[in-house]
Amino acid sequence: MNAPGPFPALNESANRDRIVNGLSVDVEDWFQVGAFEDVIERDEWDGLKTRVVDNLERILDLFAEADVRATFFTLGWVARRHPAIIRRIADAGHEIASHGYDHARVTSFDRASFAEDIRKARVILEDCSGRPVTGYRAPSFSIDARVQWAFAELAEQGYAYSSSVAPIAHDHYGWPEAPRFAFYPLPDADLVELPVASAILGGRRVAAGGGGFFRVLPYAFSRWAIRQVNRDEQRPAVFYFHPWEIDPDQPRVPGAPIRSRLRHYTGLEKMAGKLRGLVHEFRWGRMDALARREERRAVELELLLDSEEPAQ
Ligand SMILES: [Zn+2]
Repeated sequence: MNAPGPFPALNESANRDRIVNGLSVDVEDWFQVGAFEDVIERDEWDGLKTRVVDNLERILDLFAEADVRATFFTLGWVARRHPAIIRRIADAGHEIASHGYDHARVTSFDRASFAEDIRKARVILEDCSGRPVTGYRAPSFSIDARVQWAFAELAEQGYAYSSSVAPIAHDHYGWPEAPRFAFYPLPDADLVELPVASAILGGRRVAAGGGGFFRVLPYAFSRWAIRQVNRDEQRPAVFYFHPWEIDPDQPRVPGAPIRSRLRHYTGLEKMAGKLRGLVHEFRWGRMDALARREERRAVELELLLDSEEPAQ
């Protein structure tokens, strides 16, 4: 199956500096990250000391200080263990969305087991937050050309949007042929995919919506990338980070490959300061609101194209 086409850009020069980007937090504890999935077994998780709640408190303070609302893509497993903080996040005006139950990649499922995973996570998240869950982000951005049935399952379960595609080439994930901006992955459903931000550097797509790009490189790179997307391309950027990224004191995982450790632990000390710069410098909002704006844009574009049809 070929990658579907993107929504084309509209001329929005009047709104130049007013683009509201999508801000998201992938809520998982320090021992649940993809980098360590071969070193720490899922049945060890219950015995490990949690740090996610303290880190979430700091993130809530940071967002409150900047007066921004964001989306927290949360593991069902984390919500089951820490229901109170999930409720507090939702009560503060942020969106609780799904990151699956226990961080298994979509590529590790068939459709039936994926359906079960997202159903299980959603029940817990809706219970804890007291609000409907309408968004989903695949662990490790693991929706790519091989598992496009996942979109059909999300649509069938009534999700409004997904933010599960990294439209780049990367060693651990990525779907380099996918559109860089919002698209409808299914011809017959309203489900919107909001890919994580990428920038064009030397003619190539680079991941610019978080992760190592943000944590390891100087903040100036991220500023440049988001400006490129907002000003040159007139599109919103989708950004993400994790609670463990602002926690320099997290336990070090022994036995992990050196490359994973380097990637995981570099830049933690500077992360909170960089995030503060980012949330103040650009405009940010929840992902569900971004999905609705992108849908409206698609409708407007359709009307525009219709009106340009020659009269019969
Ligand atoms: Zn994750």
